Amino acid sequence: MSLIIFSTERFAEHQTPPGHPEAPERAEVMDTVAAEWRRQGGEVVSPTAATRDQLARVHDAAYLSRVAATAGKAVALDADTYTSPATAEIALLAAGAAVAAVERVMGRSRASALALVRPPGHHAERDRAMGFCLYNNVAVAAAHARALGATRVAIVDYDVHHGNGTQHLFERDAHVLYVSTHQYPYYPGTGAAGEVGERQGAGFTVNLPLEVGAVDEDYRLAFAEVVLPVVRQFRPDLILLSAGFDAHERDPLGGMRLTTPAFAAMTRELVAVAEDCCRGRIAAVTEGGYDLRALGGSLRAVVGALANGRSARPDWPAAGRIAPSRGQASVAAAKKALSPYWRL
Ligand SMILES: [Zn+2]
Repeated sequence: MSLIIFSTERFAEHQTPPGHPEAPERAEVMDTVAAEWRRQGGEVVSPTAATRDQLARVHDAAYLSRVAATAGKAVALDADTYTSPATAEIALLAAGAAVAAVERVMGRSRASALALVRPPGHHAERDRAMGFCLYNNVAVAAAHARALGATRVAIVDYDVHHGNGTQHLFERDAHVLYVSTHQYPYYPGTGAAGEVGERQGAGFTVNLPLEVGAVDEDYRLAFAEVVLPVVRQFRPDLILLSAGFDAHERDPLGGMRLTTPAFAAMTRELVAVAEDCCRGRIAAVTEGGYDLRALGGSLRAVVGALANGRSARPDWPAAGRIAPSRGQASVAAAKKALSPYWRL
């Protein structure tokens, strides 16, 4: 696989209030990981801003104007989503990086891409900012892939939070599959197993809610029993990954206990599906992850998986002494809800 990273140190210019978890220091960690990749001979490219047309595929025109009007100002768009003077411009770069990642992988075989961005995107709805997110970067990317001719796009989201925005944007669309593992019940409140999509999109939303405290083995089970079989049966032309790292055991927001090698394993499994289904086309876009050390380690794990494909190591960590009861419950609920749509 040839991996390209899209990132810029400018992502630190999106300022949040002191003590806010989605802090500019996260961009410094991303820069460090990008610099390491460049030193290994890898390609790192600065993104350009997403265009209004690209954003308007998933966001309302009035909302785009409202965000654009925050340029030069510090305002609260939501109880925990803030702008600083540069945010309107930086958020365009984040969405632009996701678009660039798609352009890169759609045009060739055995190519992977990683957009190291902030602010994150998966909580952003068609008409409002939410949960630290302004533009729904991965949704903009999926819509761009469709515009480039992809018939089926799979989005897998292992951030600890449910991607309400991404689900809502595509829940009536049979061409975009959304699969999420997340802590539940938890912010933002959506993501029950029974939410499977609507109308012609029924079956193309797949939720694996997991009780707080889930460990590597719970996620391994959810991937093996539901995530990977559904994505394979969907036969995507492209896999997009909403790569959030707040299910890490060190994360201050999430209540899960994933280790760094589990992020490598989940990513590697998706790369293997991409190699089998869509000539290795996979693009990852960062979401949450608020412990800086866990963020750095997990990003390195993802870089390794995206660069080395299915030969990447490590595989899943050895199961510990904790029985995967949370994973079993989640898988059972998901299978029950999805049985009309998929062979599970
Ligand atoms: Zn999150």
